[in-house]
Amino acid sequence: MDRLGDCPGGDLQSGFTGIVWAESHIRGQPSELAGDVEFALRELMRGGVLPVDALGGLSGCGVFALETGRLEFARAVAEAVAESAYSEGSYAYWPQRPEQLPADARSLFPTGYVNCGTAHGTPGIIAFLSRVRAATKTATLDRVIQGAIRWLIEHELPSGSLSNLPPIVRREQCPTQSRLAWCYGDLGAAAVLQPVENDVPVRDFPCFVEQLAVTAADMPTSRSGVIDHGMCHGALGVVHQFNRLHERSGDGRFLDAAIRWFDIALQMRRPKAGRSGFFGKDSDRARDAPGLVAGLSGMGLALLAAIDAEEPQWDRVFFLS
Ligand SMILES: [Zn+2]
Repeated sequence: MDRLGDCPGGDLQSGFTGIVWAESHIRGQPSELAGDVEFALRELMRGGVLPVDALGGLSGCGVFALETGRLEFARAVAEAVAESAYSEGSYAYWPQRPEQLPADARSLFPTGYVNCGTAHGTPGIIAFLSRVRAATKTATLDRVIQGAIRWLIEHELPSGSLSNLPPIVRREQCPTQSRLAWCYGDLGAAAVLQPVENDVPVRDFPCFVEQLAVTAADMPTSRSGVIDHGMCHGALGVVHQFNRLHERSGDGRFLDAAIRWFDIALQMRRPKAGRSGFFGKDSDRARDAPGLVAGLSGMGLALLAAIDAEEPQWDRVFFLS
């Protein structure tokens, strides 16, 4: 904690906000540094430098605010996210303009795009706003939450596609299909939207969420894109999300998928690789990364959740509880 100031930014994934979230969560009470973090984040918000997404931007800062009981700050963050939405008729969405993208992405996407993944896009933002709505009774968020859900439903891929949601939507090209993961695709979106599906009165929303989850459960292993074990886009993250979908719905299809992916995760394990045989990325450098999102701590927590009768709380940071 003494070296908190060395963290490069205020984001939840790799900045000081994530570290103070973790400390607060482990202690079961807000960190003594929570006030300093709120001050720093308000400064960053005033400077307009933070994007709106969960892992790298404002929605993640709001997760920290909720975890530490700073509801006024959570409401302020949510209102900033809501104000930054574009609206078109009854739709709301958050375009990422080219100048907001990293240099390598800017050359690939010269007109920008709208991100449809949970980590950096619409489902994660909806999940965050819905939680603030529930915690603070801020009814002014209803319009943008409902508009974003309508936008997401409107951009479903045609039936018969491998996934219902594309990773991104952009003007000049047909959308492509998504992998099986929390960060992008149907599984993550279903898992973060299922807890709020009955809170938002948008026609067909629960049906949409169920269809996302069913399509994810039917995804063939060979086309899933899963090549490692981490929470973000690895096999143990897949297990944990299907486990959560089953716990809330009682639907046996999601239990079957969780068990199937648990077997796959064990088969993928390389006992002589790294500290545990589970790995975050298929490279020696990143294999034993300790972090929650793609590293060993997230894998360990997902394994514990699979065998422990006690309901986990840590997955609030992924909007899974
Ligand atoms: Zn990922």
